[in-house]
Amino acid sequence: NTLIAFRNVWKIYQMGEVKVNALRAVSVKFRKGEFAAIIGPSGSGKSTMMNLVGCLDIPTKGEIYLKGRNIAWLKESELAVLRGRTIGFVFQQYNLIPGMTALENVLLPLEIQEIDDRIAERKAKKLLSLVGLSDKIQHKPSQLSGGQQQRVSIARALACNPEIILADEPTGALDSVTGRELLEMLYRLWKEEGKTIVMVTHDLHLAKYASRHIELKDGKIVRDGINEERLTPE
Ligand code: ADP
Ligand code: ADP
Repeated sequence: NTLIAFRNVWKIYQMGEVKVNALRAVSVKFRKGEFAAIIGPSGSGKSTMMNLVGCLDIPTKGEIYLKGRNIAWLKESELAVLRGRTIGFVFQQYNLIPGMTALENVLLPLEIQEIDDRIAERKAKKLLSLVGLSDKIQHKPSQLSGGQQQRVSIARALACNPEIILADEPTGALDSVTGRELLEMLYRLWKEEGKTIVMVTHDLHLAKYASRHIELKDGKIVRDGINEERLTPE
């Protein structure tokens, strides 16, 4: 039940003469049913690791396996399909398309997977209602609050029934109350829907809700274990 595995992964950025070892010999597995928080100071490699977990980038050295398949051996199109079905992304900046309504934004991944229009529309409406936005489906992102936009992005992330939700600083652009609601939503997806969640956060309070803590420092994992003092939202 390993969904994503890193084997001896390095990411080295070449900046002219200078090399930055953003990740150094990282081996880690993400298994079904986990709620992992990747923590560590700014510059420790969290975003780099997240981009690799999401198969949005390739390692300089080492291997990454997505559902047992070495991603280096997949064609671009095969990887796109496998990634689309396995992983849903929630970003700090929402990444919604400004010219599209909430409904159209959620429909987008379904269209990419070539799902029948009527089924796709029913599904998108159901997801928007799940995140409490039934009355906002025709709103464009600019007509929604930050928290509402982030909920649209969660609905979009769920559209293709992914096994894993990757959340990069999901509450980073939100005030603390809205951020807590968002976190509770992620928590319920984990607890009630059985989704695997991998979240990057520099907010140690948010990390308290995760079942596993992976701590990075200077591109290395310096701590990895069960969060013994896990909190549950009231
Ligand atoms: P965070 O994930 O901490 O919010 P970023 O990932 O955007 O922030 O950036 C973390 C560090 O990486 C910063 O010091 C930034 O200057 C550096 N960085 C990010 N992208 C680039 C880039 N394209 N070129 C050089 N440095 C970068
Ligand atoms: P974090 O998300 O923990 O802040 P990052 O993964 O963004 O850390 O950055 C890790 C290291 O890699 C930092 O030293 C950063 O400056 C560097 N870095 C990140 N992205 C780039 C990039 N695109 N080009 C060059 N250096 C980068």
